[in-house]
Amino acid sequence: MIKIITKSEEETKKFAAKVAKVILRPSEGRSRKEAIVLGLFGDLGAGKTTFCQGFASGLGISENIHSPTFVIMKNYKLKAKSYQLIHIDAYRLQNPKELLDLGWDELIENPRNIILVEWADKIQKILPKNYIQVKLEYIDKNKRKIFLRSTPNILKIICQWKNSNTVNSV
Ligand code: ADP
Ligand code: MG
Repeated sequence: MIKIITKSEEETKKFAAKVAKVILRPSEGRSRKEAIVLGLFGDLGAGKTTFCQGFASGLGISENIHSPTFVIMKNYKLKAKSYQLIHIDAYRLQNPKELLDLGWDELIENPRNIILVEWADKIQKILPKNYIQVKLEYIDKNKRKIFLRSTPNILKIICQWKNSNTVNSV
């Protein structure tokens, strides 16, 4: 697990963009047979959507990303490699079954999908076993603590980046 503290919205976006780039490295994709799923945890205002915005820009998506609270799910096409980013906001779901009804099982099977889920605690039961966990905690107005759980490979690269960057570690 990686733990970092960001001191601004921009730092969180920068970190998220790096995570996106590392996840999409060709070497990480070689053996992938299913979607990449990131589960985002944290209270209202913790920075989940901010993380998603940075992540999307790291993937080269220039569209403005908002929480799809009312539509539940929004898709963004990536030019490169025919990937698709799927941004889900599970806040309004009463039951994980509602997401199953929206085709969740097919979505997580497709290795071309990168799926971000805000309020992942709402669908914890149906998250794939190897999902990437991102937990955000409010410290003060501009500071957030972020915990990232992923494969050793991905964590190693992000850790190296973190140590050579202005984003402070703890
Ligand atoms: P959530 O989706 O978790 O409800 P948002 O990303 O929508 O949260 O909102 C986070 C708010 O906190 C934004 O207004 C953002 O500008 C602000 N903020 C302040 N500092 C940070 C930080 N270090 N990281 C992320 N957001 C921050
Ligand atoms: Mg949000």
